Amino acid sequence: MKGLKTFKMGGVHPPGKKYLSENKPIKNAVISNLSVVALSQQLGSPSECIVKPGDEVREGMLIGKSTGFISANIHSPVPGTVKEISDIYLANGMTSRAVVIEMEGEFDRLGKEESKTSWDNLSSKELIEIIDSSGIVGLGGATFPANVKFSLPKGKKAEYLVINGVECEPYLTADHHLMIEKSDQIIEGIKIIASIIKPEKLAIGIEANKPDAIEVMKEAALRADLSLDVVGLEVKYPQGDEKQLLKAITNREVPSGALPIEIGCVVSNVGTVHAIYEAVVLGKPLIERVVTVSGGAIKNPQNLKVRIGTPISSLIEECGGFTEKPVKVVVGGPMMGFTIYDLDTPVTKGTSGVLALTSKEVKGAAQTACISCGRCIAACPMGLNPTTLFKYIDHTDYDSAESIGLMDCKECGSCGYVCLARIPLVQGMRLGKGMLRAKKVKA
Ligand code: SF4
Ligand code: SF4
Repeated sequence: MKGLKTFKMGGVHPPGKKYLSENKPIKNAVISNLSVVALSQQLGSPSECIVKPGDEVREGMLIGKSTGFISANIHSPVPGTVKEISDIYLANGMTSRAVVIEMEGEFDRLGKEESKTSWDNLSSKELIEIIDSSGIVGLGGATFPANVKFSLPKGKKAEYLVINGVECEPYLTADHHLMIEKSDQIIEGIKIIASIIKPEKLAIGIEANKPDAIEVMKEAALRADLSLDVVGLEVKYPQGDEKQLLKAITNREVPSGALPIEIGCVVSNVGTVHAIYEAVVLGKPLIERVVTVSGGAIKNPQNLKVRIGTPISSLIEECGGFTEKPVKVVVGGPMMGFTIYDLDTPVTKGTSGVLALTSKEVKGAAQTACISCGRCIAACPMGLNPTTLFKYIDHTDYDSAESIGLMDCKECGSCGYVCLARIPLVQGMRLGKGMLRAKKVKA
Protein backbone atom coordinates (compact mmCIF):
# COMPACT_ATOMS: atom_id res chain seq x y z
CA MET A 1 0.00 0.00 0.00
CA LYS A 2 1.51 3.32 -1.09
CA GLY A 3 1.50 6.71 0.63
CA LEU A 4 1.00 5.44 4.16
CA LYS A 5 1.41 7.99 6.94
CA THR A 6 2.81 7.58 10.43
CA PHE A 7 4.32 9.46 13.38
CA LYS A 8 8.08 9.90 13.45
CA MET A 9 9.31 9.79 17.05
CA GLY A 10 9.78 6.39 18.72
CA GLY A 11 7.32 3.54 18.42
CA VAL A 12 7.73 -0.23 18.23
CA HIS A 13 6.55 -3.16 16.13
CA PRO A 14 5.29 -5.96 18.40
CA PRO A 15 3.96 -9.09 16.63
CA GLY A 16 0.34 -8.35 15.69
CA LYS A 17 -1.21 -11.77 16.44
CA LYS A 18 -4.47 -10.45 15.03
CA TYR A 19 -4.87 -13.53 12.82
CA LEU A 20 -6.25 -15.38 15.84
CA SER A 21 -9.56 -13.49 15.69
CA GLU A 22 -9.52 -11.27 12.60
CA ASN A 23 -11.67 -13.64 10.56
CA LYS A 24 -14.30 -13.99 13.27
CA PRO A 25 -17.45 -11.90 12.72
CA ILE A 26 -18.96 -10.21 15.76
CA LYS A 27 -21.21 -12.61 17.64
CA ASN A 28 -23.68 -11.81 20.43
CA ALA A 29 -22.28 -13.25 23.64
CA VAL A 30 -24.41 -15.38 25.92
CA ILE A 31 -25.98 -13.12 28.56
CA SER A 32 -24.85 -14.00 32.05
CA ASN A 33 -27.42 -14.72 34.77
CA LEU A 34 -25.56 -12.35 37.04
CA SER A 35 -24.33 -8.92 35.89
CA VAL A 36 -21.91 -6.95 38.03
CA VAL A 37 -22.18 -3.35 36.89
CA ALA A 38 -19.41 -1.12 38.24
CA LEU A 39 -20.27 2.47 39.17
CA SER A 40 -16.71 3.63 38.31
CA GLN A 41 -16.50 2.86 34.62
CA GLN A 42 -15.45 6.24 33.33
CA LEU A 43 -12.69 8.72 33.73
CA GLY A 44 -13.76 11.15 36.45
CA SER A 45 -16.07 10.74 39.38
CA PRO A 46 -18.04 7.52 40.01
CA SER A 47 -21.74 7.43 39.21
CA GLU A 48 -24.26 7.69 42.03
CA CYS A 49 -26.22 4.49 42.61
CA ILE A 50 -29.97 5.14 42.32
CA VAL A 51 -31.22 1.60 42.93
CA LYS A 52 -31.24 -0.61 46.03
CA PRO A 53 -31.36 -4.35 46.71
CA GLY A 54 -34.75 -5.80 45.78
CA ASP A 55 -35.48 -3.18 43.10
CA GLU A 56 -36.66 -4.43 39.74
CA VAL A 57 -34.76 -3.00 36.78
CA ARG A 58 -35.46 -3.06 33.07
CA GLU A 59 -32.98 -3.44 30.22
CA GLY A 60 -31.42 -0.02 29.58
CA MET A 61 -32.85 1.60 32.74
CA LEU A 62 -30.74 4.23 34.50
CA ILE A 63 -29.14 2.72 37.61
CA GLY A 64 -26.17 5.06 38.14
CA LYS A 65 -26.35 8.82 37.74
CA SER A 66 -23.53 11.02 36.51
CA THR A 67 -22.14 12.99 39.45
CA GLY A 68 -20.40 15.94 37.96
CA PHE A 69 -18.79 17.53 34.97
CA ILE A 70 -16.59 14.50 34.25
CA SER A 71 -18.72 11.46 35.02
CA ALA A 72 -21.30 9.34 33.16
CA ASN A 73 -24.70 7.70 33.47
CA ILE A 74 -24.83 3.92 33.84
CA HIS A 75 -27.72 1.74 32.67
CA SER A 76 -28.85 -1.75 33.50
CA PRO A 77 -27.58 -4.16 30.82
CA VAL A 78 -30.36 -6.67 31.54
CA PRO A 79 -33.83 -6.85 33.05
CA GLY A 80 -33.85 -8.33 36.54
CA THR A 81 -33.64 -7.71 40.25
CA VAL A 82 -30.91 -5.88 42.13
CA LYS A 83 -29.38 -8.53 44.35
CA GLU A 84 -26.87 -6.37 46.18
CA ILE A 85 -24.68 -3.30 45.99
CA SER A 86 -21.14 -4.42 46.69
CA ASP A 87 -17.50 -3.40 46.47
CA ILE A 88 -15.50 -5.04 43.70
CA TYR A 89 -12.04 -4.85 42.16
CA LEU A 90 -11.83 -3.60 38.59
CA ALA A 91 -9.30 -4.90 36.06
CA ASN A 92 -7.02 -1.92 36.75
CA GLY A 93 -6.77 -2.88 40.44
CA MET A 94 -9.00 -0.03 41.62
CA THR A 95 -12.05 -0.69 43.76
CA SER A 96 -15.57 0.32 42.77
CA ARG A 97 -19.11 0.08 44.08
CA ALA A 98 -21.13 -2.20 41.83
CA VAL A 99 -24.77 -3.05 41.23
CA VAL A 100 -25.23 -6.83 41.11
CA ILE A 101 -28.28 -7.75 38.98
CA GLU A 102 -29.88 -11.17 38.74
CA MET A 103 -31.41 -11.54 35.29
CA GLU A 104 -35.14 -12.22 35.05
CA GLY A 105 -38.11 -10.92 33.09
CA GLU A 106 -38.52 -9.70 29.58
CA PHE A 107 -35.95 -7.81 27.52
CA ASP A 108 -37.15 -4.49 26.12
CA ARG A 109 -34.73 -4.44 23.20
CA LEU A 110 -33.16 -7.86 22.67
CA GLY A 111 -34.53 -9.64 19.58
CA LYS A 112 -36.98 -6.80 18.81
CA GLU A 113 -37.01 -4.71 15.69
CA GLU A 114 -35.23 -1.41 16.21
CA SER A 115 -36.98 1.75 15.08
CA LYS A 116 -34.86 4.60 13.79
CA THR A 117 -35.18 8.23 14.81
CA SER A 118 -34.29 11.07 12.52
CA TRP A 119 -31.86 13.50 14.14
CA ASP A 120 -31.41 16.06 11.33
CA ASN A 121 -33.49 18.69 13.08
CA LEU A 122 -31.82 18.31 16.47
CA SER A 123 -29.52 21.08 17.69
CA SER A 124 -25.95 20.47 18.91
CA LYS A 125 -27.22 20.93 22.47
CA GLU A 126 -29.95 18.32 22.02
CA LEU A 127 -27.54 15.81 20.47
CA ILE A 128 -25.05 16.34 23.31
CA GLU A 129 -27.86 15.79 25.81
CA ILE A 130 -28.71 12.43 24.20
CA ILE A 131 -25.04 11.38 24.26
CA ASP A 132 -24.81 12.47 27.90
CA SER A 133 -27.97 10.72 29.04
CA SER A 134 -26.96 7.53 27.17
CA GLY A 135 -23.73 7.24 29.17
CA ILE A 136 -21.41 7.27 26.17
CA VAL A 137 -17.71 7.32 27.04
CA GLY A 138 -14.60 6.79 24.91
CA LEU A 139 -14.54 3.09 24.07
CA GLY A 140 -10.92 3.09 22.90
CA GLY A 141 -9.86 2.66 26.51
CA ALA A 142 -9.75 6.23 27.79
CA THR A 143 -13.44 6.20 28.93
CA PHE A 144 -13.61 10.00 28.78
CA PRO A 145 -17.28 11.12 28.73
CA ALA A 146 -18.16 11.81 25.07
CA ASN A 147 -20.57 14.67 25.84
CA VAL A 148 -17.72 16.57 27.54
CA LYS A 149 -15.37 15.96 24.63
CA PHE A 150 -17.88 17.31 22.10
CA SER A 151 -18.81 20.38 24.19
CA LEU A 152 -16.05 22.56 22.83
CA PRO A 153 -14.64 25.19 25.20
CA LYS A 154 -15.65 28.78 24.40
CA GLY A 155 -13.49 30.30 21.70
CA LYS A 156 -12.20 26.92 20.47
CA LYS A 157 -12.88 25.65 16.99
CA ALA A 158 -12.58 22.11 15.66
CA GLU A 159 -10.82 22.23 12.35
CA TYR A 160 -10.43 18.44 12.19
CA LEU A 161 -12.60 15.58 13.37
CA VAL A 162 -10.29 12.56 13.30
CA ILE A 163 -11.80 9.11 13.77
CA ASN A 164 -9.54 6.54 15.33
CA GLY A 165 -9.76 3.20 13.53
CA VAL A 166 -6.15 2.28 14.27
CA GLU A 167 -6.49 -0.48 16.88
CA CYS A 168 -2.71 -0.81 17.14
CA GLU A 169 -2.65 -3.09 20.21
CA PRO A 170 -1.68 -6.65 19.21
CA TYR A 171 -4.44 -9.30 19.25
CA LEU A 172 -7.38 -6.83 19.29
CA THR A 173 -9.75 -6.97 16.31
CA ALA A 174 -13.01 -5.57 17.74
CA ASP A 175 -12.74 -2.16 16.04
CA HIS A 176 -11.62 -3.82 12.81
CA HIS A 177 -14.82 -5.88 12.75
CA LEU A 178 -17.00 -2.94 13.71
CA MET A 179 -15.68 -1.07 10.66
CA ILE A 180 -16.23 -4.04 8.34
CA GLU A 181 -19.68 -4.92 9.67
CA LYS A 182 -21.08 -1.52 10.72
CA SER A 183 -19.51 0.92 8.28
CA ASP A 184 -22.80 2.67 7.38
CA GLN A 185 -23.68 3.15 11.05
CA ILE A 186 -20.18 4.51 11.77
CA ILE A 187 -20.54 6.95 8.88
CA GLU A 188 -23.86 8.15 10.31
CA GLY A 189 -22.22 8.46 13.74
CA ILE A 190 -19.49 10.61 12.16
CA LYS A 191 -22.19 12.82 10.61
CA ILE A 192 -23.82 13.23 14.03
CA ILE A 193 -20.55 14.31 15.67
CA ALA A 194 -19.79 16.58 12.72
CA SER A 195 -23.15 18.27 13.11
CA ILE A 196 -22.28 18.97 16.77
CA ILE A 197 -18.73 20.29 16.44
CA LYS A 198 -18.84 21.47 12.81
CA PRO A 199 -15.29 20.59 11.74
CA GLU A 200 -13.84 21.77 8.44
CA LYS A 201 -12.22 18.40 7.68
CA LEU A 202 -13.10 14.80 8.45
CA ALA A 203 -10.56 11.98 8.49
CA ILE A 204 -10.34 8.40 9.70
CA GLY A 205 -6.99 6.72 10.36
CA ILE A 206 -6.74 2.95 9.74
CA GLU A 207 -3.52 0.92 9.78
CA ALA A 208 -2.46 -0.94 6.63
CA ASN A 209 -2.99 -4.32 8.30
CA LYS A 210 -6.75 -3.75 7.82
CA PRO A 211 -6.98 -3.16 4.04
CA ASP A 212 -10.56 -4.47 3.97
CA ALA A 213 -11.63 -1.88 6.57
CA ILE A 214 -9.96 0.89 4.54
CA GLU A 215 -11.90 -0.16 1.44
CA VAL A 216 -15.21 -0.63 3.26
CA MET A 217 -15.00 2.77 4.97
CA LYS A 218 -14.17 4.46 1.64
CA GLU A 219 -17.19 2.83 0.01
CA ALA A 220 -19.51 3.70 2.91
CA ALA A 221 -18.40 7.36 2.85
CA LEU A 222 -19.05 7.45 -0.89
CA ARG A 223 -22.53 5.92 -0.46
CA ALA A 224 -23.38 8.53 2.16
CA ASP A 225 -21.87 11.34 0.11
CA LEU A 226 -19.60 12.23 3.02
CA SER A 227 -16.29 13.92 2.35
CA LEU A 228 -14.19 11.70 4.61
CA ASP A 229 -10.45 11.30 4.12
CA VAL A 230 -9.74 7.60 4.76
CA VAL A 231 -6.05 7.67 5.68
CA GLY A 232 -3.99 4.48 5.47
CA LEU A 233 -1.33 4.36 8.18
CA GLU A 234 1.87 2.37 8.59
CA VAL A 235 1.59 -0.41 11.16
CA LYS A 236 3.34 1.00 14.21
CA TYR A 237 2.60 1.03 17.91
CA PRO A 238 1.27 3.26 19.62
CA GLN A 239 -0.33 4.90 16.57
CA GLY A 240 -3.76 4.62 18.20
CA ASP A 241 -2.80 7.15 20.84
CA GLU A 242 -4.45 10.42 19.87
CA LYS A 243 -1.20 12.40 19.97
CA GLN A 244 0.54 10.00 17.58
CA LEU A 245 -2.58 9.70 15.40
CA LEU A 246 -2.87 13.47 15.05
CA LYS A 247 0.83 13.78 14.25
CA ALA A 248 0.44 11.11 11.55
CA ILE A 249 -2.71 12.57 9.98
CA THR A 250 -2.49 16.33 10.52
CA ASN A 251 1.23 16.76 11.27
CA ARG A 252 0.19 18.80 14.32
CA GLU A 253 1.56 18.26 17.80
CA VAL A 254 -0.55 18.38 20.94
CA PRO A 255 1.47 20.43 23.48
CA SER A 256 2.43 18.87 26.81
CA GLY A 257 -0.54 18.73 29.17
CA ALA A 258 -2.98 20.02 26.53
CA LEU A 259 -5.97 18.43 24.80
CA PRO A 260 -6.26 17.98 20.99
CA ILE A 261 -8.74 20.87 20.77
CA GLU A 262 -5.81 23.20 21.55
CA ILE A 263 -4.55 22.41 18.04
CA GLY A 264 -8.02 22.47 16.49
CA CYS A 265 -8.65 18.72 16.57
CA VAL A 266 -11.17 16.33 18.10
CA VAL A 267 -10.48 12.59 18.07
CA SER A 268 -13.04 9.83 18.56
CA ASN A 269 -12.66 6.07 18.43
CA VAL A 270 -14.78 4.05 15.95
CA GLY A 271 -16.43 2.14 18.81
CA THR A 272 -17.50 5.41 20.41
CA VAL A 273 -18.80 6.70 17.09
CA HIS A 274 -20.87 3.53 16.69
CA ALA A 275 -22.22 3.87 20.25
CA ILE A 276 -23.23 7.46 19.43
CA TYR A 277 -25.10 6.23 16.36
CA GLU A 278 -26.96 3.70 18.52
CA ALA A 279 -27.79 6.31 21.17
CA VAL A 280 -29.04 8.99 18.78
CA VAL A 281 -30.63 6.90 16.01
CA LEU A 282 -31.79 3.83 17.95
CA GLY A 283 -32.31 5.44 21.37
CA LYS A 284 -30.04 2.84 22.96
CA PRO A 285 -27.90 3.63 26.00
CA LEU A 286 -24.43 2.13 26.31
CA ILE A 287 -25.15 -1.33 27.73
CA GLU A 288 -22.92 -3.47 25.54
CA ARG A 289 -19.71 -3.32 23.55
CA VAL A 290 -17.53 -5.48 21.30
CA VAL A 291 -14.73 -7.34 23.09
CA THR A 292 -11.98 -9.43 21.46
CA VAL A 293 -11.35 -12.62 23.42
CA SER A 294 -8.03 -14.04 22.24
CA GLY A 295 -4.53 -15.27 23.11
CA GLY A 296 -2.72 -18.56 22.64
CA ALA A 297 -4.46 -20.16 25.61
CA ILE A 298 -8.00 -19.49 24.31
CA LYS A 299 -9.49 -22.43 22.42
CA ASN A 300 -11.65 -20.47 20.01
CA PRO A 301 -10.77 -16.73 19.89
CA GLN A 302 -13.72 -14.50 18.96
CA ASN A 303 -15.09 -10.98 18.73
CA LEU A 304 -18.08 -10.90 21.05
CA LYS A 305 -20.77 -8.29 21.59
CA VAL A 306 -20.93 -8.35 25.35
CA ARG A 307 -23.28 -6.84 27.95
CA ILE A 308 -21.50 -4.53 30.41
CA GLY A 309 -21.18 -6.36 33.74
CA THR A 310 -20.60 -9.82 32.24
CA PRO A 311 -17.96 -11.78 34.18
CA ILE A 312 -14.83 -12.43 32.14
CA SER A 313 -15.04 -16.14 33.07
CA SER A 314 -18.28 -16.35 31.08
CA LEU A 315 -16.56 -14.98 27.93
CA ILE A 316 -13.70 -17.43 28.29
CA GLU A 317 -16.18 -20.27 28.66
CA GLU A 318 -18.02 -19.11 25.55
CA CYS A 319 -14.74 -19.23 23.63
CA GLY A 320 -14.25 -22.91 24.53
CA GLY A 321 -12.18 -22.33 27.65
CA PHE A 322 -8.40 -22.69 27.92
CA THR A 323 -6.24 -24.99 25.79
CA GLU A 324 -3.60 -24.76 28.51
CA LYS A 325 -3.23 -22.89 31.77
CA PRO A 326 -2.44 -19.28 30.79
CA VAL A 327 0.49 -17.61 32.51
CA LYS A 328 -1.52 -14.43 32.52
CA VAL A 329 -4.97 -13.13 31.70
CA VAL A 330 -4.97 -9.53 30.51
CA VAL A 331 -7.89 -7.13 30.17
CA GLY A 332 -7.20 -4.77 27.24
CA GLY A 333 -4.26 -5.23 24.90
CA PRO A 334 -0.92 -6.78 25.87
CA MET A 335 0.88 -3.42 25.77
CA MET A 336 -1.44 -1.26 27.89
CA GLY A 337 -3.78 -3.81 29.45
CA PHE A 338 -4.03 -4.97 33.05
CA THR A 339 -3.30 -8.47 34.34
CA ILE A 340 -6.23 -9.81 36.34
CA TYR A 341 -6.15 -12.45 39.05
CA ASP A 342 -9.91 -12.95 39.44
CA LEU A 343 -11.70 -14.27 36.35
CA ASP A 344 -15.01 -13.00 37.69
CA THR A 345 -13.84 -9.42 37.13
CA PRO A 346 -16.66 -7.83 35.10
CA VAL A 347 -16.56 -6.26 31.66
CA THR A 348 -16.80 -2.46 31.83
CA LYS A 349 -17.29 0.18 29.14
CA GLY A 350 -13.50 0.35 28.69
CA THR A 351 -12.94 -3.39 28.13
CA SER A 352 -11.65 -3.77 24.57
CA GLY A 353 -10.16 -7.24 24.95
CA VAL A 354 -9.56 -10.25 27.15
CA LEU A 355 -6.34 -12.14 26.44
CA ALA A 356 -5.22 -15.43 27.92
CA LEU A 357 -1.52 -15.68 27.19
CA THR A 358 0.76 -18.71 27.23
CA SER A 359 4.36 -18.79 28.50
CA LYS A 360 5.50 -18.63 24.85
CA GLU A 361 3.65 -15.34 24.41
CA VAL A 362 4.89 -13.73 27.61
CA LYS A 363 8.52 -12.77 27.86
CA GLY A 364 9.50 -14.56 31.01
CA ALA A 365 13.17 -13.66 31.55
CA ALA A 366 14.21 -12.37 34.96
CA GLN A 367 14.86 -8.70 35.60
CA THR A 368 18.49 -7.59 35.60
CA ALA A 369 20.23 -4.25 36.11
CA CYS A 370 19.91 -1.54 33.46
CA ILE A 371 22.65 -1.90 30.85
CA SER A 372 22.24 1.69 29.61
CA CYS A 373 21.50 0.50 26.07
CA GLY A 374 19.19 3.44 25.38
CA ARG A 375 16.59 1.29 23.61
CA CYS A 376 13.81 2.60 25.83
CA ILE A 377 14.70 6.20 24.93
CA ALA A 378 14.61 5.40 21.21
CA ALA A 379 11.25 3.64 21.59
CA CYS A 380 9.44 6.34 23.57
CA PRO A 381 6.93 8.14 21.30
CA MET A 382 6.81 11.07 23.74
CA GLY A 383 10.55 11.74 23.62
CA LEU A 384 11.00 10.86 27.30
CA ASN A 385 13.94 9.19 29.03
CA PRO A 386 12.26 6.14 30.62
CA THR A 387 15.40 4.78 32.29
CA THR A 388 16.08 8.02 34.17
CA LEU A 389 12.39 8.42 35.00
CA PHE A 390 12.35 4.90 36.43
CA LYS A 391 15.45 5.59 38.55
CA TYR A 392 13.86 8.73 40.04
CA ILE A 393 10.61 6.86 40.76
CA ASP A 394 12.54 3.93 42.26
CA HIS A 395 14.15 6.45 44.66
CA THR A 396 10.70 8.02 45.41
CA ASP A 397 11.98 11.28 43.92
CA TYR A 398 8.70 12.02 42.15
CA ASP A 399 9.38 15.76 41.80
CA SER A 400 12.52 15.13 39.73
CA ALA A 401 10.57 12.62 37.63
CA GLU A 402 7.89 15.25 37.04
CA SER A 403 10.53 17.82 36.07
CA ILE A 404 11.64 15.58 33.16
CA GLY A 405 8.14 14.93 31.88
CA LEU A 406 6.69 11.99 33.83
CA MET A 407 3.14 13.32 33.42
CA ASP A 408 3.57 13.25 29.62
CA CYS A 409 4.04 9.47 29.77
CA LYS A 410 1.16 7.76 27.96
CA GLU A 411 1.81 4.42 29.69
CA CYS A 412 2.04 2.90 26.21
CA GLY A 413 4.53 0.23 27.31
CA SER A 414 6.90 0.71 24.33
CA CYS A 415 9.88 1.24 26.66
CA GLY A 416 9.21 -1.93 28.66
CA TYR A 417 8.66 -3.89 25.44
CA VAL A 418 12.18 -3.19 24.15
CA CYS A 419 14.01 -3.31 27.51
CA LEU A 420 16.64 -6.07 27.44
CA ALA A 421 16.94 -5.95 31.24
CA ARG A 422 13.17 -6.67 31.60
CA ILE A 423 12.76 -3.69 33.91
CA PRO A 424 9.04 -3.07 34.58
CA LEU A 425 9.28 0.46 33.21
CA VAL A 426 5.60 1.11 32.50
CA GLN A 427 4.54 -0.19 35.91
CA GLY A 428 7.07 2.25 37.37
CA MET A 429 5.60 5.12 35.33
CA ARG A 430 2.07 4.24 36.48
CA LEU A 431 3.20 4.15 40.09
CA GLY A 432 5.09 7.44 39.80
CA LYS A 433 2.15 9.21 38.15
CA GLY A 434 -0.22 7.87 40.79
CA MET A 435 2.06 9.07 43.60
CA LEU A 436 2.36 12.52 42.04
CA ARG A 437 -1.42 12.82 41.66
CA ALA A 438 -1.97 11.71 45.24
CA LYS A 439 0.62 14.24 46.45
CA LYS A 440 -1.16 17.03 44.57
CA VAL A 441 -4.59 16.05 45.91
CA LYS A 442 -3.15 16.03 49.45
CA ALA A 443 -1.52 19.44 48.92
S1 SF4 B 1 5.32 4.07 28.72
FE1 SF4 B 1 5.74 6.26 28.92
S2 SF4 B 1 7.94 6.40 29.09
FE2 SF4 B 1 7.48 4.35 28.30
S3 SF4 B 1 7.57 4.59 26.07
FE3 SF4 B 1 5.44 4.92 26.64
S4 SF4 B 1 5.26 7.15 26.91
FE4 SF4 B 1 7.45 6.65 26.92
S1 SF4 C 1 16.03 -0.32 27.67
FE1 SF4 C 1 16.20 -1.16 29.76
S2 SF4 C 1 18.36 -1.69 29.90
FE2 SF4 C 1 18.21 -0.33 28.14
S3 SF4 C 1 18.55 1.75 28.97
FE3 SF4 C 1 16.36 1.41 29.03
S4 SF4 C 1 15.98 0.62 31.10
FE4 SF4 C 1 18.17 0.37 30.72
